Amino acid sequence: MTRQGSQVELPVAVLQDGTTIRDVADMVDERYDALLRRYEWLEAMLNHVPDYIYAKDTAGRFLYANRAVVENNGFSHVEELIGLTDAQIHPHAHATADGIDIIERRVMQTGEADLGVEERRMKGEGWLMMSRVPLRDRQGQVIGLVGASRDITARKRAEELMSMQARLLRDVATGVAVSAFIETAKTTLKQALGGLDIGITLDPQPSPGETGQTLFPIVGRQGEPLGNISVDGSLLSEAGLREFLSGVAQAIGIAVVRDRDIRYIAYLAEHDALTGLANRSLFDRSLAALLAGEPMPLAVAFIDVDNFKLVNDSLGHAAGDDLLKVIASRILSVTGADALVSRIGGDEFIVVLQAAPEDAHLALQRIGEAVSQPMILEGREIGITCSIGVAFAGQHGTSAGELLARADIALFDVKKNGRNGVRAFSEDMAEATRSKIERVAELRRAIEQDEFILHFQPQKNIVTGAIVGAEALVRWQHPREGLLPPASFISLAEEVGLISAIGECVLRKACREARRWQDTGLPGVRVAVNVSARQFREPSLCQTVAAILDDVGLDAALLELEITESMIMEDVASAIARMEEITALGVSLAIDDFGTGYSSLSTLKMFPITRLKIDRSFIADIPADMGDVAIVKAIVTLSRTLGLEAVAEGIETPEQLALLSDAGCDAFQGYYLAKPMAASEFSAFVRLHIEKTGNEAEAEASTGNMPA
Ligand code: C2E
Ligand code: MG
Ligand code: MG
Repeated sequence: MTRQGSQVELPVAVLQDGTTIRDVADMVDERYDALLRRYEWLEAMLNHVPDYIYAKDTAGRFLYANRAVVENNGFSHVEELIGLTDAQIHPHAHATADGIDIIERRVMQTGEADLGVEERRMKGEGWLMMSRVPLRDRQGQVIGLVGASRDITARKRAEELMSMQARLLRDVATGVAVSAFIETAKTTLKQALGGLDIGITLDPQPSPGETGQTLFPIVGRQGEPLGNISVDGSLLSEAGLREFLSGVAQAIGIAVVRDRDIRYIAYLAEHDALTGLANRSLFDRSLAALLAGEPMPLAVAFIDVDNFKLVNDSLGHAAGDDLLKVIASRILSVTGADALVSRIGGDEFIVVLQAAPEDAHLALQRIGEAVSQPMILEGREIGITCSIGVAFAGQHGTSAGELLARADIALFDVKKNGRNGVRAFSEDMAEATRSKIERVAELRRAIEQDEFILHFQPQKNIVTGAIVGAEALVRWQHPREGLLPPASFISLAEEVGLISAIGECVLRKACREARRWQDTGLPGVRVAVNVSARQFREPSLCQTVAAILDDVGLDAALLELEITESMIMEDVASAIARMEEITALGVSLAIDDFGTGYSSLSTLKMFPITRLKIDRSFIADIPADMGDVAIVKAIVTLSRTLGLEAVAEGIETPEQLALLSDAGCDAFQGYYLAKPMAASEFSAFVRLHIEKTGNEAEAEASTGNMPA
């Protein structure tokens, strides 16, 4: 190998091992070349690395720097930089005493490397990740340091965006109100985009956006559109910003859906699920607010659907629900959708009208008319009416409680007077209610004090002429008002749930009396006891009857219970079951006031009954009224056909009796024979009757010890 450019031929010196000087020189050259190449290669490599790499001596002067450092510091050649300190290059950036960076000094003093520290750039925006290791000589002495750093601005930015997004998601998770959340999201986005405003639109049909704008859809749980974020497309060149914006859009979507859910739950908590009207709690709150606010005319009205139960029972609950929905919308059609209208129970509505009494009254009348328009339910046309009671603020009360109570009293008055109407509260009504309340208290006391007595009305067999039974009729021996007829208290007792107690007392007294008649030697006279609807439905009725018969020691065959058609028709299946329970005791059943109810022939056939009592209303006008004559005859024939005994009630004249007798009626009861009488009078009546008719056989047949 020869060195290029050597022209002079030198004599060749040879070393002992035979190598020539030239050989040696060539070897040195070769080494030098290799070294040089390696140095150039290394430098090129360091200059290609985008990271900043440099070496400094212990005084902080640059020993070496790669191109990234050179250019970053505004130089064009590394030589310009060598020998300078940072303080000299950036006179304003550093403030340490000796001009050496604190960390660099520490690395050189301790000989310990400092790796991976994030720092803000000294020049311009951005972040660096710095590593500094001590630079040592062959002896291991620290003679400076080597530094390497990398621009991590992009990573830091991505981290920043991520933490912004995380903060927003945390807000969603902690349930920040949606409006506040949107505000935070706006500020965050603005911050992330260096102060530029960003559009957030919440609208299920958001506009397509202006040209040059990029939209990030905000969607709900099922991907349904809720709105969007719109950004100037030119801003999106930055890496990671798209992901960030989609992330924020997602967080907004969650916040909006969550807010919607919360609102829906709140709505459900305050509205009637069926009609969508305010429920009682919202109503109470709203009415209280109205009363507490600016004084204004207010009318509070109760609206009750007449005979709603009938629709529900005959057409089914689904039809009943439909009916209520129709009524709700008809009420709103008059009041306007914003009026305070509430459904507070099955078929009861309350309406608050912000109107003076006359106007409110008219509006309520219009509601009544609207409700009574025919409607189609289950394919049938139905006409329904409603009863409305109203009270006016100021005039009838100042608190919600007073107004509601008075509207309720007015409603009760409408119902009492044939339903289907509007009435405003009046003091007379309150008086009636007060006396009703007092009456109930008196009834309770009457039960405790045992103020009920029984009168007995005899029943006579038309063919044999024998007294075959007696109907027990209750009276109230009122301490002040004297003897009160059942019409004055039975329905009230039924309404307030006192009838069962009264009924049980009547049953016991009637059975005890029948047993006493037996004991004193009267022929077996059957006693008939009226049973009320509520009593008939009482699950314990049979037990009570059985216990009383047992206590008193009366033969079950001497007891008859009178029930009415309406009690049976309410629920035929369970009524039949109940009747069978009763007859299983040996007690017989009679249908009272027959002809006034709606039992059909086919159902009548299924009842385990013994007697039909023809209602007095059919008897009163016979024989003059031909229609009634026909009905009475038909009922008697029907009884025969079904194998039942017919008993005529309310016979007052011999003509009536003659007609019934001709028609083939089995027995009768009425003033013509006897008015209802006290128990003691009744036994005397029967004795006298036996004496007069001389029907000894009857008496002997029963006890055999009949007094003369
Ligand atoms: P009801 O069961 O149909 O009883 C017959 C009613 O007709 C009795 O009226 C009786 O006094 C009356 N009456 C009988 N014969 C004649 C007559 O010839 N002419 C006229 N004008 N009336 C006559 P009262 O005692 O006032 O009873 C009325 C209703 O009260 C009874 O009708 C019955 O439904 C009910 N009631 C009576 N006692 C009880 C009872 O202990 N429990 C229940 N739940 N209801 C009873
Ligand atoms: Mg009766
Ligand atoms: Mg009757």
